[in-house]
Amino acid sequence: MSPNELCRRCKTAEATVVSRKEFFCTACFRKFISLKQRKQMMSDQYFQDIFKVMYPDKKKTPEEAEKLNEKSRILVPLSFGSSSIVMLDVLNDTLTEQREIHRGRMGFRIDLLICYFKEDLEELKGRVEALMTAKLRDNKKSVKVHLVDIESFMESPDFVRVHLQDSTYTVRSASIPADEARSVKDLLSSCSNRSAREDLLNIIRTSIIKRFGVQGGYKAILWGHSMTRLADEIMSLVVKGRAPQIANTLNDSDPDIEFGAPLRNLHPMRDILLSEIDAYCFVSDLTRYLHNYIPQDTLLVNKTPDSLNAQPLRAKLTKNMTINELARQYFDGIEANYSNVISTVVRTGSKLDDPEDNLKAKERCGICNNRVFSDGAQWLRNITVTGSHPIENDEEDALYKMWDASEQGQVRGEYLKLTSDMQSAGRELSVCYGCILTLGEVKHKNLIWPSNQPNSVESIIKDFVMTDDSDSEHEGN
Ligand SMILES: [Zn+2]
Ligand SMILES: [Zn+2]
Repeated sequence: MSPNELCRRCKTAEATVVSRKEFFCTACFRKFISLKQRKQMMSDQYFQDIFKVMYPDKKKTPEEAEKLNEKSRILVPLSFGSSSIVMLDVLNDTLTEQREIHRGRMGFRIDLLICYFKEDLEELKGRVEALMTAKLRDNKKSVKVHLVDIESFMESPDFVRVHLQDSTYTVRSASIPADEARSVKDLLSSCSNRSAREDLLNIIRTSIIKRFGVQGGYKAILWGHSMTRLADEIMSLVVKGRAPQIANTLNDSDPDIEFGAPLRNLHPMRDILLSEIDAYCFVSDLTRYLHNYIPQDTLLVNKTPDSLNAQPLRAKLTKNMTINELARQYFDGIEANYSNVISTVVRTGSKLDDPEDNLKAKERCGICNNRVFSDGAQWLRNITVTGSHPIENDEEDALYKMWDASEQGQVRGEYLKLTSDMQSAGRELSVCYGCILTLGEVKHKNLIWPSNQPNSVESIIKDFVMTDDSDSEHEGN
């Protein structure tokens, strides 16, 4: 392609991005992406009421109108990947535009939520400060920042031990003293593979974000998932035995009551490919705000000079990849030539409804808090043989004794001891099929989990540090 190719939209500026077989200049490409996001933000009355600038009319006094604008608070979880940064950039432009057109009035307020592990805190603070002082400078008064330690998930007054009995697949839980509780880090390191770790971390993060959203009384949570990311989420949910959650995960049109009070989820970037978001990052000079993420320059007319060096960083051994990473790699690979596959997966996923409820009562999973629709343990019992063949001769007996004395045998012994303890102390806990599978990949097939999750939000709200002003910081309480 010639470097002097002109933008097909304005026909004047030089093209910088090629997407969906069309040449765009930077300004037209930014407009193209921005409009796709804004269309979702105006997709129904509920969201229009949030994002539109309210004016006094027959029903509203000027004060009431301004109050409505003030109260339209949205929660934006920021992972510092390209998608959440681009989503924030479009939101910021929307605020600026409203301020200019409506003479100082703005329709909504943004609260950023950053979940962090201690070792990343300084770096993330640096990134968000850079955002507030540069990118978001003019709208600083309408943006608040909250930093929440992921470890705060374990700040609960009550804990339970959740245990999987692998001969029957039943899960039991028993209260334990709070001092036996461990950190999120310990919990994650007790997973035997990266998929289980990622699955649990995802449950923990989602729970923190949604509880924060409920506790803070936000109207909506804006998730920065691109179309590509949603497609890999859908496929990964299927593979992880979490298909019944797909409908709920993609539902932007009904209130989410998972954590007590209703709020709405919105995925405003569901029509935008990840490669387009990455390209937007490059042409809008947003790459310096990214953390732990390497954007791809596949759609840029002029590739970035260091893109070749970045490639090996992304290449991982397939056997070490998590289910989500495998799905992501697959969709990354087909984005260029088969992007219609991605939109088909997302469109099909969005059409799914909750599965038929086969249980007597409405139940939620004791681990991930999603609705449980069928008895996963029963299903597993029906399709597996878990009993072992009895020992029949001396040779087998000797081999068994050898195994019993080995490290593997001892771990098994500890597990059986724990199982019999749980049999007498615990009671059965409703757990979804996906969590039963994950529990099987954790050491001793048991984990320590905060109980009464929906009520333990208060401990989280105490934990955030607010940065109202980029140069003054204080602990909120
Ligand atoms: Zn143009
Ligand atoms: Zn679950």
